[in-house]
Order: sequence, then structure tokens, then C-alpha cells
Amino acid sequence: MAVLQQEQLVGLLKRYEEEMIQLRRHFHENPELSFEEIETPKTIAAFHRALGHEVREGVGGNGVVAKLVGAKAGKTVALRADFDALAITEETGLPFRSKIKGRMHACGHDGHTASLLILAKALNQMKDNLAGTIVFIHQHAEELAPGGAKSMIADGCLEGVDVIFGTHLWAPTELGKVQTAIGPFMAAADGIYMKIKGKGGHGSNPSDTKDSILLAAQFITNLQQLVARRINPLRPAVVSIGHIEALNPFNVIADQVYMKGTVRTFHEEERDLLEREIEELLKATCYLTKADYEYEFRRGYPPVVNHAAETEHVMASARKVADVEAVEFVDPTMGGEDFAYYLEEIPGAFFFTGAKNPQWQEVYPHHHPKFDIDERSLRIAANVLGQATLDYLAKDY
Ligand SMILES: [Zn+2]
Ligand SMILES: [Zn+2]
Repeated sequence: MAVLQQEQLVGLLKRYEEEMIQLRRHFHENPELSFEEIETPKTIAAFHRALGHEVREGVGGNGVVAKLVGAKAGKTVALRADFDALAITEETGLPFRSKIKGRMHACGHDGHTASLLILAKALNQMKDNLAGTIVFIHQHAEELAPGGAKSMIADGCLEGVDVIFGTHLWAPTELGKVQTAIGPFMAAADGIYMKIKGKGGHGSNPSDTKDSILLAAQFITNLQQLVARRINPLRPAVVSIGHIEALNPFNVIADQVYMKGTVRTFHEEERDLLEREIEELLKATCYLTKADYEYEFRRGYPPVVNHAAETEHVMASARKVADVEAVEFVDPTMGGEDFAYYLEEIPGAFFFTGAKNPQWQEVYPHHHPKFDIDERSLRIAANVLGQATLDYLAKDY
């Protein structure tokens, strides 16, 4: 039965591959920005309705949740794909490039959506032999904090769900490879916003001032000491100041300095420590001249932390997929993803599906105006997610 189902899934996905690619190109030509998605969720909902799935629209905003109920009772598996685009003007020159200036599917979410829709169509044809339920979570607004995942969870998209799987088509990784990590896989990405409020004055007369630039220089230098001496060296953390501004003439001591930076961590412990101690460092530095400060630690998405058993499960399923040439456990990446929120609620795993065409001389990174994916990766992503679902529903718990 299991082998039969496996072959059936492969056959159906191959049969519908052309439709999957056309769907991806349709979404690619018609990108919609985070929190402004209107037509994309409509298309998704109509596709599921045509299959006879129970569909809920407007979930936590613009999200869509569809449900496929198998012939027999069993576990419930959720599969997630995001569908928002970015505020980028496309420069790929592809025949199906974005029709809208200043909007582009430059992260592959068009592919995620097409891939999950066709997987839903394939699994639907197998439902007479399925024991359990499959929930398709089509998530809006992944690209922009606070993201769509959190509000979709609050609106009940995980109710009754036992496990969740998701993938990101990944352009830096070659087609045929599937990659993940057990535990922390993607970073928490937070922002720090600071102002040093000293006392300005004439450059020739420093003793009458509280030099904000000097304080900022001391603060920035000591900031790296937090990473070097306060963080466990076996736990990765990055603190980077990306912006410093005083806007002063050459002979004036700065009244105020603005700074912005990013903080990347993989565990709440380091995240909390840095939030607290960056402020303490800023406060202590300002105390040297009794200057004032403002500090804001703006939290982005939490880290994506994969559950061990579920990650092993997906990778075991991936090994059964003929088009998967390599299953790799890799180092975590410092990028962020709001799939993190699902994994805070229930067990599951997130992985990368290689989408780099081996013939490409140059690979443009995600969010680049020339970003592209090898469309063969869509079927591989669907096959791995589908196989993981079949294996999970077939398992005895
Ligand atoms: Zn992105
Ligand atoms: Zn993305």
C-alpha cells in the first residue's frame, strides 16, 4: 500500500507539472504585497473549492485555509505555503515577468503556492486511501513583520493539527538537494533603534558639552564585547550597527546621535540577554558625561527551531523521492522566517528545497531584482511534502 501510494503521488505530480508551472507563472505575473493580497487568496480559495475542499478565507487577515478529509479517520497534517511578493521592480526579462512595476515575486512564494495547490490536487485524488486530514495553510504576509503566521494561528489555523511541514524554495542550493537542521535552523532577526542625547556646543570648547559622537563611538566599540564576552561562544549571535547619524558641521560637537542596528540570535536566552544588556551598555556609556538616551529593541520573527523527530521524519521521506539527489543537514542560516510561530505551537519541520539551475553561471540571491528559481524545484517540493504527509498518516502513533 505504502509503495503504491508513493508511486501514485509521483505519477499525479508529473501529470500536473505543467499546470503547476503555469500557476506559478500566473502568480509571478501578478504579485501582491504583504497585507495587500486580494486576488491571490481568491485564486487559491477557488482552486480548493473546485476540488471540493472545505475552505476558509480571510483567516487572520488575507490567509486561506483549506481542508482535505481522507476516507478514514487519522492524524491531521498541516502544510504551509506563503504567497506574498516584495516591493521590488523585476529585472529578469522573463516572458512571464511581473506586470506591475515596483512589485515582484523575488523570494519564490509564487512557487510555494503553485506547488502546494497542485499537491492538494494530487492528494485529493488519493483521498479514498487516506486515513486522516490534511490542512493546507496558505499564508499571507511573510515578508513584513508582524507577518501573517501569528494572526492566522490566533484565528485557529492550527486547531486540531498534529504536525506541520513547510519548505522554502532555495536559490543558493542546487536543484535536487534538500537541506535542513535539527533545532535552530533560521535566526531571530530583531532591530535596535537608539538615540544619544548629549549637549551640543562649539568644537573648540568641549568641556561645556556632552559629546554625543564620542559616546556613540565608545558604545559601538564596547557593543562587540557583549557578543565576545557575554554570549556563550557555542551559541551564535550577531550585533551590527548599520546606521549612525549626527548631521553636524565640522566644528560643532554633536547634540544628538542616532543609531540603528540588527541583532541575530537562535535562542530566546541570548535574545533576551542582548535586549537587556545593549540597553545597560548604552546607559552606562551615557553615564560617563550624564547624557541621556532613548532605546528601542524591536522584535522581528523568533528563530525557526525544528523539532527533532519531525525533522528526521521529513528527511526520511525526502530520501524516498527519486528526484532528491541529496538530503543534507546543514548549518543554520542567519535569515528569518515567520514559520517560526507555527513551530512554537506544535511539532513540525521546515526545510529548503534546492532551486538553483546547475547551468546558471550566476545566482541572484532572494530579494534581488533578477532573482529566479529553477521551476523543476516546484515538483520536488510538492513531492517531499506529499511523501512526508503520506508517511505521517500511515504511521502508527
Ligand atoms: Zn523573502
Ligand atoms: Zn521567503
